[in-house]
Amino acid sequence: MSDAVTMDKIVSLSRRRGFVFPSSEIYGGMGSTFDFGHYGVLMKNNIRELWFEAMVRNRDDIVAIDSAVILHPKVWEASGHVAGFTDPLIDCRTCKLRFRADKLEDSNCGLKPSKHPGETPECDLTEPRRFNLMFETTVGALQEEGSRAFLRPETAQGIFINFKNMLQIARRKPPFGIAQIGKSFRNEITPGNFLFRVREFEQMEMEFFVPPDEAEKWYRYWIDERLNWYRRYGLRDSKLRVREHGPEERSHYSQGTSDIEYEYPIGWSELEGIANRGDFDLTQHTEYSTTKLEYVGQDSERYVPYVIEPAVSIERIMVALLVDAYDEEVVGERERTVLRLHPKMAPVTAAILPLIGKSDDMVAKARSLYEDLRRRHSVEYDDSGAIGRRYRRQDEIGTPWAFTVDEQTLADDTVTVRDRDSLAQERIAIPEVRDWLDDALERDWKSPKGS
Ligand code: ATP
Repeated sequence: MSDAVTMDKIVSLSRRRGFVFPSSEIYGGMGSTFDFGHYGVLMKNNIRELWFEAMVRNRDDIVAIDSAVILHPKVWEASGHVAGFTDPLIDCRTCKLRFRADKLEDSNCGLKPSKHPGETPECDLTEPRRFNLMFETTVGALQEEGSRAFLRPETAQGIFINFKNMLQIARRKPPFGIAQIGKSFRNEITPGNFLFRVREFEQMEMEFFVPPDEAEKWYRYWIDERLNWYRRYGLRDSKLRVREHGPEERSHYSQGTSDIEYEYPIGWSELEGIANRGDFDLTQHTEYSTTKLEYVGQDSERYVPYVIEPAVSIERIMVALLVDAYDEEVVGERERTVLRLHPKMAPVTAAILPLIGKSDDMVAKARSLYEDLRRRHSVEYDDSGAIGRRYRRQDEIGTPWAFTVDEQTLADDTVTVRDRDSLAQERIAIPEVRDWLDDALERDWKSPKGS
């Protein structure tokens, strides 16, 4: 098995199989924006669902919220984003390209791409300037003073400003959390590397409110929880690590931050961030809004909770899963490309295939099994073309199992089930397929690519 996975291979497979397309292609494209096709949508749904299951549904101490994208502009003053959510920007007067001053070593010179900006005599770089990453918009019909607003660059602030509402409704006391999934927008100066850095992405964030003296404990707890979630869904241990930020690297609000990093083809990079935000956000919003955001207990105990935040985007998880799953191997004489995705992450859980697409009997049997399974699972029916080609198509979109209806099915009501990874085939009775699939989905799963 080869592990020479490049971002180009992932981009090309994603496009070929309809996971992700470059956006606005018929108008010449819009750099670093993407549209998700059918399988991309199914996979995103799985990532979202499994995050929500782990963070909300399976817990007694976390509730959900869905706040607005465009919030009162003062939110972003209070949060520090208007003043501080900036990247240092450098322009080159010669090639007219723009770079992040803190990422020059990751950038290529516009004239000599083998060099970094500033390394050739022709490079003429400006001093770094601060560039705010928030997208601005205007609210209402008139572009007048006071109509300026921002698209949210993180979902977290929508949680903090609802702290009081949620505390009352949820009838919880710290430690408890509020989780949110939704689009965030950042006017990144140097987007790129496929979905890794894009200007609009779907964030999954959870703010966990704790008594201040328990913050460190919960910070460690959430690093472990999140790391284990990635392991459970099959990311290989050797490709995951936790990196703690030094004081100079932390955001303005942070008392401690760790990144869960994945070894993407571009090198070790942040997959998810876990931050101890202290009481910064609730204190700031209390000051700016004059609404007290604090916890008051029954015995008049009162304090401003500290906040531990695991934050990630569906896009970064999707790239990590695709990279980790991508494999090429030679079977018999033929090469195949296969996505060895965790079965719960795969866009399609099972394919139902009549061996001979022109056989009315096989088609009828296969369709009836398909109609039964589709009520509970993401399954696909396909009767067109040679069976080998149909299997390979399913391998490329990562479908873990294929149920095939053949001659023998017509005699004894059994089908073969083909395993995507081992290619082993076994026969099972049609009435047992549903339970077999339910059991198979609950089994522990490890990547066949190793650990
Ligand atoms: P980076 O240093 O890579 O720009 P960040 O530290 O600014 O990331 P956070 O503000 O901590 O990122 O955002 C939390 C999470 O949101 C990240 O861990 C990542 O999963 C996701 N994320 C942030 N920016 C982007 C982006 N431009 N495209 C896709 N996902 C993103």
